[in-house]
Amino acid sequence: MIRKCNEHGYFRGHECPECGDNGRYVLDDEREERLGRFISGALRHFPEDVGLEMDMQGWVNLDNLCNIMESRYRWSTEERLIALIDSDVKKRYEAEGSRIRARYGHSVNVNLDYPGNEFAYLYYGVSLEEVDMLLENGITPIRQRYVHLSTSYRKANEAASVHTENPVVIEVDAETAQQNGLFFMSVNDDIVLTDEVPPEYLNVVEE
Ligand SMILES: [Zn+2]
Repeated sequence: MIRKCNEHGYFRGHECPECGDNGRYVLDDEREERLGRFISGALRHFPEDVGLEMDMQGWVNLDNLCNIMESRYRWSTEERLIALIDSDVKKRYEAEGSRIRARYGHSVNVNLDYPGNEFAYLYYGVSLEEVDMLLENGITPIRQRYVHLSTSYRKANEAASVHTENPVVIEVDAETAQQNGLFFMSVNDDIVLTDEVPPEYLNVVEE
């Protein structure tokens, strides 16, 4: 559930992680999940199908999104939407002035404009069955606009654990790749996007 602390803003659960206050109720789990699914579809996969115009950087107009959202879910409000994205520990979305976008996870064609960042190593978790193929062919996006890399071994392992039981973690030699012209965008603390990673930068690592 999402609640709001007067002092520290929106949070998930029953107690503000900063001060322990119970705050006031904003959204229950079921509605949080329904709203989350809706904005994921609208901002990552099929903006046109719900009637939204998206620019190449992935932004849509916040009022337009709220109007569409409120016509589908009578209980939804702009505050509840903002509460959902503000309290999201995965930082999937960002709102800025009159616009809102997903930071990652797009299957629609966008050209995100996050600045490039320098990394020594980045990580990518895969299943045991996939590993040899990736080491041979490199990493390319599957049903997504970008390859999603992780900033740490632990995060890569975590992300892959959702899909496979015993993930293998591939280390990307980002420093060399960058020297050779590859571009890495960090969209939040955990996730870095890139177009593709050729095989010469990949190695399997153990923690
Ligand atoms: Zn608080």
